[in-house]
Amino acid sequence: MIAPQATETKHWSFHTDLEKIGWLTIHSPEGSVNVLSREAIMELETLVARIEDLANSKQLVGVVLLSGKDSGFIAGADVSEFDGISEPSVLTEALKRTHALFWRIENLKVPVVAGIHGFCLGGGLELALACHYRIAVNDDKTRIGFPEVNLGIFPGFGGTGRSIRQAGPVDAMQIMLTGKMLRAGAARGLNLVDKLVRHRDMLRWEGRNAVLQSRRSSGAGWTKKLTALPLVREAVANQMRKQAGKKARREHYPAPYALIDLFEKHGNDWQAMVRGEIDAFVPLMGSPTATNLRRVFFLSEGLKKQGLKGAKFARVHVIGAGVMGGDIAAWCAYRGMSVTLQDLDMARIQPALDRAKKLFQKRYRKKREVDAAMLRLTADPQGSGVPRADVIIEAVVEKLEVKQSIFSGVEGRMKPGAIMATNTSSIELERIAEALKEPGRLIGLHFFNPVAQLPLVEVIRSRFNSDEAIARGASFALAIGKSPVVVKSAPGFLVNRVLMPYMLGAVERVEKGESKELLDAAAVAFGMPMGPIELMDTVGLDVGKSVATELGHSIPADSRFARLIAEGKLGRKTGEGFYKWEKGKAVKGETPANADIAALGRELVKPLVDMTEVVVEEGVVGSADMADVGVIMGTGFAPFLGGPMRARADGRA
Ligand code: NAD
Repeated sequence: MIAPQATETKHWSFHTDLEKIGWLTIHSPEGSVNVLSREAIMELETLVARIEDLANSKQLVGVVLLSGKDSGFIAGADVSEFDGISEPSVLTEALKRTHALFWRIENLKVPVVAGIHGFCLGGGLELALACHYRIAVNDDKTRIGFPEVNLGIFPGFGGTGRSIRQAGPVDAMQIMLTGKMLRAGAARGLNLVDKLVRHRDMLRWEGRNAVLQSRRSSGAGWTKKLTALPLVREAVANQMRKQAGKKARREHYPAPYALIDLFEKHGNDWQAMVRGEIDAFVPLMGSPTATNLRRVFFLSEGLKKQGLKGAKFARVHVIGAGVMGGDIAAWCAYRGMSVTLQDLDMARIQPALDRAKKLFQKRYRKKREVDAAMLRLTADPQGSGVPRADVIIEAVVEKLEVKQSIFSGVEGRMKPGAIMATNTSSIELERIAEALKEPGRLIGLHFFNPVAQLPLVEVIRSRFNSDEAIARGASFALAIGKSPVVVKSAPGFLVNRVLMPYMLGAVERVEKGESKELLDAAAVAFGMPMGPIELMDTVGLDVGKSVATELGHSIPADSRFARLIAEGKLGRKTGEGFYKWEKGKAVKGETPANADIAALGRELVKPLVDMTEVVVEEGVVGSADMADVGVIMGTGFAPFLGGPMRARADGRA
């Protein structure tokens, strides 16, 4: 039966039932997730006016807000609109309007209950926090949090104050400053959610009960609020600045600092914090940092569109169970695939299985999930997995003849249509493929070490490959949650090619007597995640040398670099390289003063940026945009600058 009060708009539907409960459902017309676009907010204004009327005339006892999409509640505001509204007067107006709307929801005389499943992020969480009571599904898919800081902003729809009201200042600031996504249980623990249910189907029933019982969430307890008292707050804010400083500099990423300033001003009064939010927020939105971070966000989202529709991969066979092959196999099993792992004998496979177990234990919460993943990963010294595999990845020693003979061996046994890929870092794909009957089958899937942590996979294209073969490779990378960037088979591909001149340039300066501490500090001040000397130590001097040689750089035999290698001082993995390493950390001496560290940083990074330009000119990557996103993901190059090509175009590198 159609209820008496029903309204359908583009983004929402609303109806009341016989118990006078209003059911408000969001279903964004485009895409698989709900977003709070400006249009959705304007439609909500009209609906809220209607809800106010119904509540005032006692035709409504409460409202339950739900999502009509399987993917979740609301993934946030519509980021694609941000560029268009970052002009301060336009943005201020838009924010004021949304603030006013959320206050109206909060001030409704009848209870408003949010029923949350899946993603409830950013603006979506802010809307949920303006409701009186929150119910969430306690399953693996629920994710609740404020990812705004990753886009160079902080919550702007009143979420700063409202999260503090619910979770207390320290916990709320923590989730806003880190952008961490919480599972349902953790969100309940922080009082961001009031009740958990087991299934999405139960949201309606619980929502109804919450309305009929007029349940209202209570705020954080008084003990939590102590940290917001005047003098304590100043100290807490300073502590937060110190923590933030460990991750990012104010001049690079102003948003966390602006949020801490706001907390320091108003942290003991959540409503004042909400009121102060707009003024603090507006300058961030149009800042170069936020603009660049948005661009990087869209570029990385764009990478997801490179795959083939409907491509499915269930079985992976990895040949070579060393550092890379072992970790690639473990990662694929972690991502749900059945994996067979081949090496010369069992003794060489066992360490990879042991490492895999550690990865699963770290990433999964339940023992049965760890056990299931271990069952998906099988040692296969005979290579019996080859005929059934959808993907075969070779990661054996970096020797042409070995790789050629492996591929010749598997070519006749593979399933038609299965991917055949090498993880080589330096051998031209064409040379490996020459030995094959169908050389177009072989693509490169170049992973980075450590596999579990680095998101990039370079999908290497030889001159024999079809677009389809490459798109299949990209689909596989996406299927295991990695970001594929297509790169032509040319020495060093993209990432190693641009990193090498940067690292070697710095090594040369150290050889000439410059302070490694200063060079590393200058690169970090520029915005690199780690300085070039520390990076060389981390990669390993032996690996660095072999990539350098491959790319035609020579390492003089009498250099300190060559000497360190001869002495077995290979960097972090041996406890000493350019630095001594203790407990996984480089032991650094004093950093000498330098009047213009910014200029030094730019000087150091220049070879990397120059080489990125060359790589783009040579067509090794498809576009400057691809180069930017690839270099950011593969090297950590300053995301706030938008990548090397953008930084150069902006005159910042
Ligand atoms: P590794 O030496 O740790 O492992 C190589 C493994 O291959 C060894 O376990 C060895 O027993 C096995 N192997 C050798 N011949 C074999 C054969 N015929 N059949 C089966 N297994 C065989 O090497 P790694 O560092 O894992 O590198 C593997 C590949 O990945 C290389 O091509 C390398 O260039 C590439 N790569 C390495 C890194 C890195 O940082 N280490 C990064 C990206 C790519």
